[in-house]
Amino acid sequence: MLPTKKHRIALISVDGDPAAEIGQEEAGGQNVYVRQVGYALAQQGWQVDMFTRQSSPEQATIVQHGPLCRIIRLKSGPAEFIGRDDLFEHLPEFIAEFQAFQQKQGFQYPLIHTNYWLSSWVGMELKKQQPLIQLHTYHSLGTVKYSAISDIPAIASKRIAVEKACLESVDRVVATSPQEQEHMRRLVSTKGKIEVIPCGTDVDRFGLIQRSAARQELGIAPDVKMILYVGRFDRRKGIETLVRAVAKSSLRGHANLQLVIGGGYRPGHSDGIERDRIASIVAELGLENCTTFPGRLNEAVLPFYYAAADVCVVPSHYEPFGLVAIEAMASQTPVVASDVGGLQFTVVPEVTGLLVPSKDEVAFAAAIDRILLNPDWRDQLGEAGRQRVEIAFSWHSVASRLTQLYTHLLAQTMPSIESKAQVAA
Ligand code: UDP
Repeated sequence: MLPTKKHRIALISVDGDPAAEIGQEEAGGQNVYVRQVGYALAQQGWQVDMFTRQSSPEQATIVQHGPLCRIIRLKSGPAEFIGRDDLFEHLPEFIAEFQAFQQKQGFQYPLIHTNYWLSSWVGMELKKQQPLIQLHTYHSLGTVKYSAISDIPAIASKRIAVEKACLESVDRVVATSPQEQEHMRRLVSTKGKIEVIPCGTDVDRFGLIQRSAARQELGIAPDVKMILYVGRFDRRKGIETLVRAVAKSSLRGHANLQLVIGGGYRPGHSDGIERDRIASIVAELGLENCTTFPGRLNEAVLPFYYAAADVCVVPSHYEPFGLVAIEAMASQTPVVASDVGGLQFTVVPEVTGLLVPSKDEVAFAAAIDRILLNPDWRDQLGEAGRQRVEIAFSWHSVASRLTQLYTHLLAQTMPSIESKAQVAA
């Protein structure tokens, strides 16, 4: 049921600017999620303000996206890129700016949806100062992340405490997969309310290009066996496993095998360092002739890469959801993914792709080969993937489910909130 009275709502993503160039160091699924959910909710009639921090002096403070949707950038520390692990100390300024913005506009948001733990803290602090409903999407859990790395940042204990307080106190946590929900229950807290609403993808952007046309556009020959990776350069993405798997492929040495590793990087930054590390493994394994690094794949070109590929590989050590898998599936390209997290939810083994143990290069090689050696089966998997995405993972369906949840929570709490907060006209 759609809301009869359309409220102003705030999507808060302090560290993930919805308009950021995706595919670089810290800009990935969270930025895409906030932007697409924001647009889709506005299409369903909500007045959506997406709040983020200003990370460069050139950025406009307010950007209007259609009549009902805008991005608002608030001051939170110096107007420059600040890594997530160093942002916490600047959050009080973000809160003060948010309050000043509300005051200037003459209303308070009755409902906020926060993203990532930094924004959850902002939301919980705001909730102490004004009546509001808070929903939260984690995008990544500290407990899961820190169990897999050795260089644990100083902020880790704060993050873990905030994530626990958030789960136990906000009005609703939105998990993007049943696996993420299970992790929260097992590793964060048994208290609190969780609802599973997946991430989505743009079904009109992906899946409309034929493999042959995409290859012509990209200059890739029809007989090439193309293996695609799309994503950030980050150790946890497991790109090393993919490269080692390609070295073990039975098709190795065939002139037409091609590995394309797409994603942005900046020399000297953590993504640039990881890109160099991967490139040196590629060289060490003698795969330079069949590997390309096209850099960040922008919006215009990304659908062509997905469509051109024979298989898209998502070798992450962990993914709460993993947008790349559903983007590839929407593009009718089968997915070989690690058997972890949200990938267990999106990829149906033997139906839309294959799941294999993470970090297991032998298993990845075997799974990739099975698909590359059987083009008819590849096409069947691709078709089933597209159907699955159309049914379960369009942004429209995600926004409809969020609309139902927001409406339900507003109806439940409205008498107390409406007396204090003003509803948008
Ligand atoms: N992406 C992109 N261009 C690139 C690399 C990645 O647009 O060169 C996008 C990709 O299409 C996806 C997002 O970045 O929408 C990554 O989201 P995912 O959930 O897979 O991973 P995260 O970055 O959140 O860990």
